Amino acid sequence: MSRFADPDPRFLFPHSPVPTRCQTEPATFDFANGDRSGESREATERRLARARRACSGCPIVRDCLRWALVNMDLTKVGIYAATTPNQRTALRKRMVDRLGPDWIDVLADQDQARRERAAAARHTPLTISQARIVALDREVNGPMPRPLTPVQQQRNMARLMAGLKAA
Ligand code: SF4
Repeated sequence: MSRFADPDPRFLFPHSPVPTRCQTEPATFDFANGDRSGESREATERRLARARRACSGCPIVRDCLRWALVNMDLTKVGIYAATTPNQRTALRKRMVDRLGPDWIDVLADQDQARRERAAAARHTPLTISQARIVALDREVNGPMPRPLTPVQQQRNMARLMAGLKAA
């Protein structure tokens, strides 16, 4: 059995058109909570500030963060998308609050639905007049609300019941 966990196959690590700074200078991105061995606290802080600046200019920072959040076993150490392991733990808790305990599955389902919509759009492109109507509708009414997932529905129901009990 492998010593390392496998990445979640539903979330591929994003492709960067240019080599990323964590590829070209990986030592800058080393970080484990509480580990101050090898360099002073100030040196660590300076290094982390450099890593964060590098991430903020990275073309794949958004998807890198997503990948790091869903692959928690693979990202227990290190700086990813300018976040430390502790910060990622806090962000995962917020994802649970927003999307429920199955938030990774919810994200995977949303990605799948997005891919299917994109594939369908490629096969049956809108006519020019249809595209104009869609654009006008979006301008007037804003983007279409997404249907709630079963997990979101359950969470909303639980909040509603808790609110009713408290009332
Ligand atoms: S955002 Fe991610 S891929 Fe880009 S430099 Fe930072 S850790 Fe590397």
